[in-house]
Amino acid sequence: MQSTCVIGGGPAGVMLGLLLARGGLPVIVLEKHEDFFRDFRGDTIHPSTLELMYELGLLEKLLQIRHTKIDHIAAMVGGERFEIGDLTHLPTHAKYVALMPQWDLLNFLSEEAARYQGFILRMGWEATGLIEEAGVIRGVRANTPDGPRKIRVDLTVGCDGRHAVSRQAAHLPLIEEGVPIDVLWFRISRRSSDPEIGVGYVNYGRLVVLINRIDYFQTAYLIAKGGFDQIQQEGLDNFRAGLERIVPFLAGRAKEIDSWEKVKLLSVQINRLERWSRPGLLCIGDAAHAMSPVGGIGINIAVQDAVAAANLLTEPLRSGTLTSEHLEQVQRQREGAVRNTQRAQVVAHGVLNKVLHDPGPIKAPALLRIATSLPGFQRLAARFVGIGLQPQHIRTHPA
Ligand SMILES: Cc1cc2nc3c(=O)[nH]c(=O)nc-3n(C[C@H](O)[C@H](O)[C@H](O)COP(=O)(O)OP(=O)(O)OC[C@H]3O[C@@H](n4cnc5c(N)ncnc54)[C@H](O)[C@@H]3O)c2cc1C
Repeated sequence: MQSTCVIGGGPAGVMLGLLLARGGLPVIVLEKHEDFFRDFRGDTIHPSTLELMYELGLLEKLLQIRHTKIDHIAAMVGGERFEIGDLTHLPTHAKYVALMPQWDLLNFLSEEAARYQGFILRMGWEATGLIEEAGVIRGVRANTPDGPRKIRVDLTVGCDGRHAVSRQAAHLPLIEEGVPIDVLWFRISRRSSDPEIGVGYVNYGRLVVLINRIDYFQTAYLIAKGGFDQIQQEGLDNFRAGLERIVPFLAGRAKEIDSWEKVKLLSVQINRLERWSRPGLLCIGDAAHAMSPVGGIGINIAVQDAVAAANLLTEPLRSGTLTSEHLEQVQRQREGAVRNTQRAQVVAHGVLNKVLHDPGPIKAPALLRIATSLPGFQRLAARFVGIGLQPQHIRTHPA
């Protein structure tokens, strides 16, 4: 039986750890933070991921955690509401996106993984490099609370996100797509009379998405890339007034943002590795292909990567026959879906870029009006966002 070290306890890493351990394999997951509790993680668990939870027999238990549901996707463009997607017809057990703080999902998955003997999670362990011998990756160097350690394994999987140490240390070449947007991320209190479903509000050169976290809205405020300095120079009063103008029902609440400290700038990237693997090393999730927040699909794609990797690698790891060819198969299986999804995100960025440079008030484009009134459009859009391209299914069995 061969051993695995997963770098990074995000959606890709924790899911892969769970699946390998469930398959009876020894796996150690390293997470550099002491906990999963970080605000900037996305919140969306899409029907494709919920379906995987169903296949693992975990759906009912997961949904006991406090969450909200989105079964329709809508946008308010210049004060006019457009229905973009209807998820209620999807061929999945859960026909909605569950909105749940990502730390709840990661805690849940890691607790489930800990039921299996082979699973080890090390919080506060930060990978600093790879152990390489004769061109083969043989494990990970890490800083731990007890000092530096070397972890020797047969397979290392980089799930360490957009600034992955794994891919840098392995010198895997990266292809960058230009991205014209960044996101400002902050909280605004929510009242029981507010809309249940988070909607995108587009107007006056801005797009604001409100994510319902029950007591408050986690707010994503899209700006042109590099534009935060100018927004700060224009002052908080201006920023708050702009927010209330775009989302009128927040009137009186923008004053909760009483300092720029409460507004985090999240830099958006889209990129991908030419090669996701080298002998002894595989990268998946954002480490192999950083996703934009557009569509809120990055978490789900990372989870799909983990499932594909577990499906393809469990047997070779179990029989001690893992080769580079097995690692390359993971890229072949996932690359098409990832590239086409990124292409769609690039197209969406083009549209958003136009919106961000139109000081408004915006007039809904005719194309949006025509598209959303076409029969089948809402179901198709829901399928793309909710299930995605080439959805994966659990093919492994508990040991
Ligand atoms: C502003 C913004 C908002 C987004 N919102 C959404 C959303 O709502 N829904 C959605 O589906 N997607 C969203 N995305 C995309 C999504 O965040 C990513 O696609 C997804 O998190 C990728 O998962 P991952 O497991 O590959 O990587 P990550 O989630 O980035 O996880 C990587 C993990 O590795 C750890 N790590 C990093 N380096 C090391 C190291 N050296 N040693 C040990 N551990 C390490 C990190 O601490 C982290 O826990 C958003 C992206 C952005 C930029």
